[in-house]
Amino acid sequence: MRWGLIGASTIAEQHMIGAIRATGGEVAAVVSTTKARARDFAARHCIPTHSATLALILDDPSIRAVYISSTNEKHHAQALSAIAAGKHVLCEKPLAMTLDEATEMVAAAEAAGVIFATNHHLRCSGSHRAVRDLIAQGRIGRVLSLRLFHAVHLPGNLQGWRINDAGAGGGVIPDITVHDADVARFLLGEDPVAVVAQMTASGMGQGVEDSVMSVWAMPSGAMVFGHESFTHPFAGSGLEVHGTHGSIFARGVMTQQPKGEIELVTATGREAVSFPTHNLYAQGVQDFLSALAGQGAPAATGRDGIASLAVALAVREAARTGIRQTVDYRRTA
Ligand code: NDP
Repeated sequence: MRWGLIGASTIAEQHMIGAIRATGGEVAAVVSTTKARARDFAARHCIPTHSATLALILDDPSIRAVYISSTNEKHHAQALSAIAAGKHVLCEKPLAMTLDEATEMVAAAEAAGVIFATNHHLRCSGSHRAVRDLIAQGRIGRVLSLRLFHAVHLPGNLQGWRINDAGAGGGVIPDITVHDADVARFLLGEDPVAVVAQMTASGMGQGVEDSVMSVWAMPSGAMVFGHESFTHPFAGSGLEVHGTHGSIFARGVMTQQPKGEIELVTATGREAVSFPTHNLYAQGVQDFLSALAGQGAPAATGRDGIASLAVALAVREAARTGIRQTVDYRRTA
């Protein structure tokens, strides 16, 4: 599979080029809005062609798939162009700035008959899949609550548009809450109905929030608590799922690496749970390729990307207004 990269980004550099190559793919081209950055990026990563215009990728029929990892406000137009050119699309989260845009992207892909996936890497991790299996096997009984701990410290090299540019999609809610929304949907198999939230700028955010806490009501009656931040150097990440017959403690698992530990606690005692430690991003690319070969769906579909964005937007609106928000899923139906 020959891939085109849209966006000379950190995530492409640190994770996705390796993931594409690890699954047998070839990174054939990179497009950046800046010619010099495209050239330098291509040289650093042995990518044979580069450009400051999308045509390089769109006009090359041998490039069948694109990976979009530009800043968030660019995803929409770039995805629509790629879909119109018949490319399969793996798009970064959040899919877009608005639900209307995200819905248009996914509908366009469906109409064109191309695969469209959202790069929600956490549901590709062995740890999250193990937690989901424990829940599905009934090991903790009926789920009462899920607590998501995702307050981290944004590395210095990422303290650009994320912390000061609302127009580019900055803020911790589009960055991390959107991941947590996907985790909750993936683990519990249901969609948040309504949310309440508080957000703040606690030292890093300039014109955008850098920290948020929210509580989500699920259709089953379970409650979800999410805490996302850019400003917490020592908080650690993790999740807890509490049920009528047990609890799951997964520590250090809200990460890009296949690490962490899982403990199941029931009336019979404490049990360490092992899980596969494959590369999360390579698994996502592999699932994308399998979908392309007609075997199942991508790990996170376009519809999953719309749903996680819907929850994140509801959280931001709840925090902005101080009013409980019903999550708008009308467009995902
Ligand atoms: P970066 O800031 O590294 O890159 C985003 C864009 O910013 C690039 O495409 C590039 O634009 C521009 N850019 C990169 N470096 C510079 C620079 N030195 N000076 C000026 N502009 C620069 O962002 P990330 O890689 O962190 O995020 C990109 C996307 O990926 C976002 O949508 C984000 O939400 C998502 N993401 C997803 C993750 C996941 O695990 N699924 C993890 C991290 C990010 P151009 O291409 O035009 O040159």
